[in-house]
Amino acid sequence: MFISRRDFVVSTSLAAALGLNAPLAISPAFAQKTPDPVKGFVNYKVGDAEVTALYDGIWEKPHDPAFIANASVDDVKAAMVKAGLPPDFVSIPFTVTVVRNGGKTILCDSGTGGQVQPTAGKMMTQMKAAGIDPGKIDTILISHFHPDHIFGLMEKEANRPVFPNAEIVVSDVEYKFWTDPAVIDRLPEARKGLARRIQSVFPNWKNIKQVSGEPEVAPGIRFVSAPGHTPGHRAFHLASGAGQLMISNDTAYVPALVAANPGWHGQYDQDAATAEASRRKLLDRVIADKIMICGYHFPFPGAGTISRDGAGYALSLIKT
Ligand SMILES: [Zn+2]
Repeated sequence: MFISRRDFVVSTSLAAALGLNAPLAISPAFAQKTPDPVKGFVNYKVGDAEVTALYDGIWEKPHDPAFIANASVDDVKAAMVKAGLPPDFVSIPFTVTVVRNGGKTILCDSGTGGQVQPTAGKMMTQMKAAGIDPGKIDTILISHFHPDHIFGLMEKEANRPVFPNAEIVVSDVEYKFWTDPAVIDRLPEARKGLARRIQSVFPNWKNIKQVSGEPEVAPGIRFVSAPGHTPGHRAFHLASGAGQLMISNDTAYVPALVAANPGWHGQYDQDAATAEASRRKLLDRVIADKIMICGYHFPFPGAGTISRDGAGYALSLIKT
């Protein structure tokens, strides 16, 4: 999901207008309404693999008629209510998955790094609380290059690597799309800055590995092609013993909206028709194979099962 920094700008200019000395303070208008989970990390097993969900925070996205091209704000509000969520905003939590399998510790995407929304950036605190040493992450799998998935790799402003010793694995399609100098001219204005940051940072790092197709990228984990949200978007499939988990990333980003209504076309899906096809294919596979699923923007802890529900799909979260 692509997040704008507009909220920061509004907050900062409001503070300046009021003559406040702390422009980065969060104004009451941006105070978080959703309580954080009492415990911000949850462990569960998939076969012999130990999986940990780390809560990074939430974006309570104001409603915007442009968010879903083929649904109204009232439709979106009704879908949130149907899923048991508040109607006043779109709840977009950020949950990072860690897999410990085959002697390796694997981070799936990197959190927001506190650089996307003022109400997110808690992943490192939760990682330490869960007893996972950030210095001992072996591999970081990246689903796609939107800010909420990669800014946790880079220190704010300095852009130094947060995980210099980990191998970072990404689809070659995704890497080439964002690092092509010509892409900046083709991108909408709101995304040009993201491409510039990627181009100024990633080509200088030696620990990024590009992979083609759907190879095994860590013990028991394969990339699954799920394009549309971005050109090289990937899900990650974990298999261990009799257990399987589809780490779906942004394939069905807010399930209350696009799993329940798989034909809804969201503005953050770069190619909405391809994203819809990937979503249906992935969710159908998860149902047919009777396996678990988790998602980066699913309600915390973000893991559960999917079933058919009318013309769409319904998510049942694991009990914690
Ligand atoms: Zn996202």
